[in-house]
Amino acid sequence: MSCSGETVEDDQIIQIKPRISQQLKKAKYGVSDHSTVALCHWTKKSFKHEGSCYKHKFYGISTHSCMEFSPAGMYCENRCVYCWRPMEFYDSLQMDPKNVAEPVEIISKLMEERKNLIMGHYGDSRSDKMRLDESLKPSHYAISLSGEPTMYPKLPELIKYLKSLKETKSIFLVTNGQEPQMIKKLQDQDALPTQLYLSTNAADYESFLKINKPRYDDSWERWNTTLEMLKNLNTRTVLRITLIRNYNDKEEMISAFAKMLKEASPNFVEIKSYMHIGRSTNRLEHENMLEMEEVKKFSEEVAKQSEIFSVMDESYVSRIVVLQNNKQKIDRWIPTYLDTN
Ligand code: SF4
Repeated sequence: MSCSGETVEDDQIIQIKPRISQQLKKAKYGVSDHSTVALCHWTKKSFKHEGSCYKHKFYGISTHSCMEFSPAGMYCENRCVYCWRPMEFYDSLQMDPKNVAEPVEIISKLMEERKNLIMGHYGDSRSDKMRLDESLKPSHYAISLSGEPTMYPKLPELIKYLKSLKETKSIFLVTNGQEPQMIKKLQDQDALPTQLYLSTNAADYESFLKINKPRYDDSWERWNTTLEMLKNLNTRTVLRITLIRNYNDKEEMISAFAKMLKEASPNFVEIKSYMHIGRSTNRLEHENMLEMEEVKKFSEEVAKQSEIFSVMDESYVSRIVVLQNNKQKIDRWIPTYLDTN
């Protein structure tokens, strides 16, 4: 039974409620059982050679061949103030393994949903047909769209399945850090993604609560456990900081962030401004966004105080700066093959 009182029969696959599913479809999401897929702003732009996502600039990811999806589209343990997804609909339901769809099923149904979303672009004379054809067979997976993917109990099997697909070159997973046990499982079962992101929006408990509005009582401990695990994971790691004016951008917070980054020692740190888009516009104001110059200043100071990071690159249009760890230096470019050994 979910916290909202909804009952799921023993043999039923969890479904996103019809009313919510309708709203998601109106917002051009593909929906299958409890999973969601969408074409992001940059994927659509790249079909027309109108630009690429910053992940292309930073790490060499092909934007048009990226499939962004979530196996837990409407489930999350947090209610972050900056979340642009429709989190007002989030269910606190624990995803029982016997009520979830199998990885193969999720991917084949979402591929079909994604194909339907792509089909509409063939009618646009500005689209590059070759790019559209290529996009039908993704080479990159971003497991991050809506909800918290680590709540899906068969995530190790899902990632292993994606790795087994011929076209797959890389997989990125974004987590809010609330399920450290799942991160351990990924490590133990040799199912870590190519690059693991941990959302890191606070360096102290008080702002953590204010920004993430977590549901778990031990949310801070959970998040810190995940943070501590990063150093020993056998994959590329990234801390992603979303700066929100008057929440976590104050000068006095810089030293706490720098200390945290130094201790956690991830390969990269992405520092970006909150963007006033989607559902977050109901909770925050336009003024909560930072100018690129402010993001740069904050990033440069954090890098300096950390002593081990330096600025690697930036994207003006996305208001983001990426720092590289000089103590754990790795090639910024994602290999063009997936090393599954
Ligand atoms: S953790 Fe992610 S999906 Fe969940 S509420 Fe926060 S931003 Fe939204």
